[in-house]
Amino acid sequence: MNVDQLKEQVIAYSKTIGIDKIGFTTADPFTELKNRLIRQQELGFQSGFEEPVIEKRVTPSLLLQEPRSIISIALAYPSKMKVRVEGRKGERRGFFSRASWGLDYHHILRDRLKKLEEFILAKVPEARLKSMVDTGELSDRAVAQRAGIGWSGKNCGVITPEFGSYVYLGEMITSIPFSPDTPMEDQCGSCTACLDACPTGALVQGGQINAQSCIAFLTQTKGVIPEEFRDKIGNRVYGCDSCQTSCPVNKGKDFHFHEEMEADPEIAKPLLRPMLKMSNREFKNKFGHVSGSWRGKKPIQRNAIISLAHFKDETSIPDLIDILENETSPVLKETAAWALGKIGGDTALAALEKVKAVEADINVKSEIEKSLLKLRN
Ligand code: SF4
Ligand code: SF4
Repeated sequence: MNVDQLKEQVIAYSKTIGIDKIGFTTADPFTELKNRLIRQQELGFQSGFEEPVIEKRVTPSLLLQEPRSIISIALAYPSKMKVRVEGRKGERRGFFSRASWGLDYHHILRDRLKKLEEFILAKVPEARLKSMVDTGELSDRAVAQRAGIGWSGKNCGVITPEFGSYVYLGEMITSIPFSPDTPMEDQCGSCTACLDACPTGALVQGGQINAQSCIAFLTQTKGVIPEEFRDKIGNRVYGCDSCQTSCPVNKGKDFHFHEEMEADPEIAKPLLRPMLKMSNREFKNKFGHVSGSWRGKKPIQRNAIISLAHFKDETSIPDLIDILENETSPVLKETAAWALGKIGGDTALAALEKVKAVEADINVKSEIEKSLLKLRN
C-alpha cells in the first residue's frame, strides 16, 4: 500500500470513530509561530500555562525522532444546551464556558487519537507516532491551521467553515510521509466583532491575545483576581465565550455529534450559593469530570463569589460572612470582603467591621478597609 492509499484509509477510518475533521501537514518547524511566541513573551502576554521552551512548541523533531508529517483532528462541540435549567426567582447561577461542558475534552480526544494510532500501527507496525492534546508542546491551533482544518481567527481560535470555532483540536506527529493538505486562507477580512465584544480588550489586532487580561485565563488562576477585572467577569465561573459567541461564522453553529459532550445544565450553569459551601468530595463528585475543574475547587469558589457580587445577591451575605470569618484561604477571604462591599447593607457593614478588628492578613484587611470606605460613603 502506498502512502496516499494509507492516507485515504486513515481519513475514512477517522469518520467511523467520531472525528469530525482531519487534516495533514508536514513536520517542518512552525517558523511564523515562533516569531509570534517570542513577541508574545516580550510583551508579557503569556498565560504561564504553556510549555516554557518556545523551541519545543515550534519544532516537531524535538518531540519525535525524524518526523515526517502531523495529523490534525477536530471534534465539533455543542454551543447550546439541549436541556435548559428552570430558573426560579432569586436563584443565581454561574456559567461554565462551552469548552467545559460534558466530559473533559482531553479524555475524548485522547480516546480518538489512541484509536487512530492503533489503526495506523496495524497497517504500519514500524511507524513512530506521538499524539498530543493541549499539552502546551506543539500549538494545536498552528498545526490545525497549517493542516487545512480552519483559519486562525482574530479571536485566536481556529475557525472551521463547517463547525465555526466550536471545535476541540488534537494532533499526532508521525514518521509517515503523508502528503500535506492546503492551509486555509484567513477569512476574517475586515470583521472585528470578537475584538469589539471582548469585555477586557484582551484581543490585540493581528491575532494576539493578552492572557493576563483574558477572562478565560483569569478564571483559571489561583490568586486574587485584580480588581479591575472583577466586574467584567460577570457570572462566568470558568472560561469566557464572548469572542466565540460574537463571531458571525459561529452563528447558528450547534452540533451534537458526541453524547459525552452534552452539558448537564446543573453543572454547566450551577447554582452559585451551594458552591460556596461545597466540600472537596462534593466538588469532585459534581465537577471532577469537566475540564473546568482542573485547577481545583478554590478558584471556582472565588469566581462564584465574584458572580454573586455581580448579581448583588443579598441572600448570599451570610455565606460570605462565614467565609470572611472562618475560611483559611486568604484569596477567598479577600474576594468575600470585596463582594460584601459590593452587595452592601447593614449586616455586611457590621461583619466587615467586626472582622477588621481581628484580621491578621494584611491583604484581607486592606480589602475590608476598602469595602468599609465604600459602604460608609
Ligand atoms: S475569552 Fe473573553 S476575555 Fe478572553 S479574549 Fe475572548 S472575549 Fe476576551
Ligand atoms: S469575529 Fe470576525 S474577526 Fe473575530 S474571529 Fe470571527 S470572523 Fe474573525
